Formats: sequence, structure tokens, C-alpha cells
Amino acid sequence: MASNIRIIFYGTGGSWPTPLRAMPGVGVKVDDVLNLFDCGEGTQRQIMKSSTSFMDIDNIFITHFHGDHFLGIMGLVQSMSFNNRSKPLNVFGPQGAIKILSNALNVGYYTLHFPLKIYELEPDRAYDMGKFVIRTLLNDHPVPAISYSIEEKDLVRIDPEKAKEKNIPSRIIEKIRENGVYTYRGNEYRIDDISGGIRKGRRIVYTGDTRPMDRMVEFARGADVLIHDTTTDSSFEPMVNEFGHTSSRQAARIAKQAGVGRLFLYHYSPRITDTSVLLQDARTEFENVYESKDLMEYEVRVRREGGRDPDM
Ligand SMILES: [Zn+2]
Ligand SMILES: [Zn+2]
Repeated sequence: MASNIRIIFYGTGGSWPTPLRAMPGVGVKVDDVLNLFDCGEGTQRQIMKSSTSFMDIDNIFITHFHGDHFLGIMGLVQSMSFNNRSKPLNVFGPQGAIKILSNALNVGYYTLHFPLKIYELEPDRAYDMGKFVIRTLLNDHPVPAISYSIEEKDLVRIDPEKAKEKNIPSRIIEKIRENGVYTYRGNEYRIDDISGGIRKGRRIVYTGDTRPMDRMVEFARGADVLIHDTTTDSSFEPMVNEFGHTSSRQAARIAKQAGVGRLFLYHYSPRITDTSVLLQDARTEFENVYESKDLMEYEVRVRREGGRDPDM
């Protein structure tokens, strides 16, 4: 069955927190698996204000080790331990993750009451996470940094006419889809007999911090959602690029070239109080662009074949 995929923007600012915005932290919930991308300072309080619980987080993916993207992990893990978490937590990050996170998680006096594993991910690789695949891309940023693509696996569509013709009970259809072949009451059923083609899995790309890059166009090609670094509007382009970031206009150009469903502006400079300028700039390049806001949630629905963003 198609998964339920939901994005929760816990914090949408960058660099340092302001009264207006919290630090980077994006939840991507795939059915009951809650993934947290980046965990800036204060992310746990943002999660408490959302529809999700910090105790339900299964995986944390850090894009890079600038403080705004990971300093919240120490407090978050200690709170999980206080609240008697027992289920394992996986933490992933780029080069340096094991050393930096081991140090960070050994700060202060507390006892870790649950299994926690740290993994270092390579750029330009795909990792099978069971329900979905995580793909990584090397960013253009002053420190080792990666973008993540969260990819639902392709799904075989079921042709209801074929299923009816073969008298297949509806309760075993998911079993056939899961296993390819399924034996029920002595009869063997094959997915090919009831297949109505393949539906491509939905994809969400989250960049973290990066300069604009041509290789992002390939990486994000056809994604349903792109959440891209948009630190400033275009008037600051030379400076923002020098510091390893992207303007909203540049991100929108990438979104357009990659043919994504929708672009969310993300990681606003703390100096920016009015993000509508970023939006106007971005709209000159790509129309389906939205501002992300703290605690905003977005359900990633299935697009019709060759179709546009379902919410347009
Ligand atoms: Zn940042
Ligand atoms: Zn950074």
C-alpha cells in the first residue's frame, strides 16, 4: 500500500536562533517511521509543539556539523533518556560524524538508557532503510556536508479488473504485492497477473547548507519536494555564495531545471525578517515555490502520472 508521507518543519531559520525562527530541523514521517533531518538547538521544544513526539524519532540524519544543524542533539538524547526510552536510535551524518557526535553525546553527567548507534555516510551512495531509500549527495559548503534524498520504493499498481477476473480476495492483494508470489488456499498468485504497471516512489530532497550546484539538478530530478538552502534574496548573491549558501532565486532555478513538484524555501538568514522578498525573487524563476515556516506540516501526496503537484 502507498505510504503516508508527511513533512514537518520544526525550525526554518539558519545560523543562530531568533525570536522569529527556530534552528534547522525537518521531520519526514513515512507511515510510523519518524526521521529527523538536522537537529539545531531547541529542536526538541519545536517537536513538542508539533503533531509528533520526540520519543517516536527512529532516525536522525545530520547534513553537517555547523552548530545550527546539530547542537540540539545533546539535549534531545538526554530528554529521551530521562523519559525511559528503550527503542534504539540511529544517528547518521557525513564524514566526521562518529568523532563529533560521540564527543557531543558524552557531554555532562547522564546515563543513556537505550541503544544509540552512529553511522558515517558516504556521499553519492544509496542506503536501503527498509520502507524507503536514503540517497546522499556531496554539497558545496566549507565543511563536509551532504544532501539527503528520501525515496519511497516504487510500487506495483494493482489492476482491479485483473484481480476481479482471477477472483483474488482483496485481503491477500497486499501480500501478493509485498512478496511477488503468494500461495493462498492451494492457489499460487503472481503479481504479474494483477499488475497495472509501476508507480514511481515519491521523493523528497533536503539539502542542508550548500552553494548552488549543477549536480543538485540531477540529484533532485523529478523529486516531489525540494527543501533547499535559501539563506537570502538575490541582492546578497555574491556574499551568500561566498559563505557556502544559496539565494532563493538560485534555488528556484535549480528547482525549475530539475522539474521538481514544489520547492520550499528554507534556512533563512537571521538578518531577514521579511521572507516575502525571497519568495518574489524565487517566483521569477519557478512558480511552485513556498516559504517554509516553523511548525508547518505538509503531506506529500501521490502525483498523477506526469502530473503536477497535487495541491496546485
Ligand atoms: Zn546552517
Ligand atoms: Zn553550514
